Amino acid sequence: MISLLGAAEIREIAGRIGVLPTKKLGQNFVVDPNTCRRIVKSADVQSEDVALEIGPGLGSLTLALMEVAKKVIAIEIDDRLALELPVTAERHGFDPKNLEVINRDALQVNEIAGDPTVLVANLPYNVSVPVLLNILEKFPSIRSGVVMVQSEVADRLVASPGTKSYGSPSVKATWWADLNSAGTVARSIFWPIPNVDSSLVRFVRHEPAGSEELRKITFSLIDAAFAQRRKMLRGALSEILGAGASDLLTTVGVNPTLRGEALLLEDYLRIARSLQSK
Ligand code: SAM
Repeated sequence: MISLLGAAEIREIAGRIGVLPTKKLGQNFVVDPNTCRRIVKSADVQSEDVALEIGPGLGSLTLALMEVAKKVIAIEIDDRLALELPVTAERHGFDPKNLEVINRDALQVNEIAGDPTVLVANLPYNVSVPVLLNILEKFPSIRSGVVMVQSEVADRLVASPGTKSYGSPSVKATWWADLNSAGTVARSIFWPIPNVDSSLVRFVRHEPAGSEELRKITFSLIDAAFAQRRKMLRGALSEILGAGASDLLTTVGVNPTLRGEALLLEDYLRIARSLQSK
């Protein structure tokens, strides 16, 4: 089997190309090949898959993906890392034709040729939620995936209504996918060692809950409800729903004295549909 990247090689490459990991770009590199293979396995990547990776860094997970997938498309913001990645892949015996590196900010990428089918990424922590939501929105060809995020963010992504972790990412993500926890990852497998815990989140896409127009209305309701989390819905949504907020909520079967954290996506959807039909 072709060997993956280990701790010594990771430091060697970083030193050679002048990369000193920065917090700003969430640069904590995985130095343990077993963890990379575990992530790829947990994403159930198959030989016909085109894998999308956000933030490949020095290539730890990229090479593990190349062992299995037909092709890997990797979006990396750091020029030096993006430039070195095909070199590393080739040195490890992989065909660089099966790797496409896009040297850009993942939040700015709206189109990718080649229809990726699976997302597998150790996401940059500071932008993990917007990156994930952007990908679910922009790339419907992605059917499933596994992302590594800060444990606190993982809790939020899979949270149920009424819990402390439940927030706008929890509701929004369910527009596109079912999400669940796929385990934790030890801090010791990173270089540098982060001061937060990391966890894996698995998702499987389902049919979107409605049209793009309905999504925008629904998301504006979710944003308003969680922007003023402690307010009752009749107050938090009054700017959008107007003077008749309480009546409208009651009509669609939502108690106006509840807070946003008590509602499921389907509840927000009923409110949005009633606005759409006005
Ligand atoms: N996948 C590698 C690994 O597991 O070792 C690196 C993961 S590291 C947590 C995050 C990576 O995302 C870094 O390589 C960083 O340069 C890159 N990155 C940060 N912000 C980004 C953005 N907005 N778009 C694309 N890549 C980004």
